[in-house]
Amino acid sequence: MTKRDYYEVLGVERNASSEQIKRAFRSKARHLHPDNKESGDESAFKELAAAYEVLSDEQKRSLYDRYGHDGLTGGAGGFEGMDFGAFSDLSEIFSQFFGGGPRSGFRRSPVERGADLKYDLQLEFLEAVFGCEKKISVRHLEDCTVCSGNGAAPGTGPVTCSTCAGMGQIRQTTSTFLGQFTQVITCPNCGGEGTRVEKACSNCKGRGQVRKSRDIELKVPAGIDGGSRLRIPNAGDQGRRGGPPGDVYVVVHVSEHPGFVREGTTIHVRQPVSFSMAALGGELSVPTVDGPRVVKVPAGTQSGTTVLMRGHGVPQLNNPTRRGDQIVHLIVETPTRLSAEERKLLEQLAELRHERLKSAEPEPVEENAGDESGGRAREKTRDATRDGGSIMGKIADFFGAKDAGNE
Ligand SMILES: [Zn+2]
Ligand SMILES: [Zn+2]
Repeated sequence: MTKRDYYEVLGVERNASSEQIKRAFRSKARHLHPDNKESGDESAFKELAAAYEVLSDEQKRSLYDRYGHDGLTGGAGGFEGMDFGAFSDLSEIFSQFFGGGPRSGFRRSPVERGADLKYDLQLEFLEAVFGCEKKISVRHLEDCTVCSGNGAAPGTGPVTCSTCAGMGQIRQTTSTFLGQFTQVITCPNCGGEGTRVEKACSNCKGRGQVRKSRDIELKVPAGIDGGSRLRIPNAGDQGRRGGPPGDVYVVVHVSEHPGFVREGTTIHVRQPVSFSMAALGGELSVPTVDGPRVVKVPAGTQSGTTVLMRGHGVPQLNNPTRRGDQIVHLIVETPTRLSAEERKLLEQLAELRHERLKSAEPEPVEENAGDESGGRAREKTRDATRDGGSIMGKIADFFGAKDAGNE
């Protein structure tokens, strides 16, 4: 099918200004609009709307100017197959032509996109690290197969709504102290559909859709973390009256692991190290998500020292060949229950290292006041001796000196 030149459709020159294009469109649209009983022509109007859609948009117009109709089909827009309902953004302009009444512009598009659904998925720690395949069951709305989605019992069909005469909208006039206001509202009788079901389909109770379980094979990518969302396109509720389906959003939850703590792509592990190994150094088997691996513990390791194990962390979500690291936190364990022999060996060790197990100076304060062997008590005794031992001695010293001064 050959397409007419858009400038020709609008009846304007190729160098027409946007204002001229708008004016030409308005006058022709009024004439060709399907609601116009004398001269309405739906296919001509569609052609006109398509032409205006392109020429009123600077970017699309320049594409069209350079490449013609071909310039518009391959690109991001893809105007081929555009339907009548897609021009709903023009409805505002139409309402200006036709006075904003119920017959103005387009009726509300009866096609409705289905709802998006949420699914909570619980994963084990390692499933999130390495990814997995899950079969999930989603309950979504599908068109009723008994009534083909129109909600009417077999043998009957939806009838035109008498309230809105099939338009889906009605004019409502409200009186207020400021005067009368008229507004166009969705028809309350048919909910904007323009038709009503007289005898409801028993399978879907007139709703046109039924909820059904559907199994979906879900591929969970490696490196996913709790709180992430996975989108399954078109698995949500089916759209009403042939509308596009919604999506399913899978919200990921990850269980905690008794040994591993995840921080992004890094995994932390607490690894106890014996007192002797911390001092002497050695090798330890440490758990990783890839299984146990041996790490070297350097001699003289302090509690809290970390060891980096490269590449044993979590794969990057979008680049799973690259992996994070594991950090091992070495915790030196002090032995608690010593056998007599162990105690003896440790005491020998302390002796060799000249480590005092008891403090020499100052001596610990004895809280028992009556114990005269305490340091404080001994100090006091020494002072008293130096000062003459008694108050009588002090007095004697004082008088003696005075006497000497008088001599
Ligand atoms: Zn049904
Ligand atoms: Zn109605």
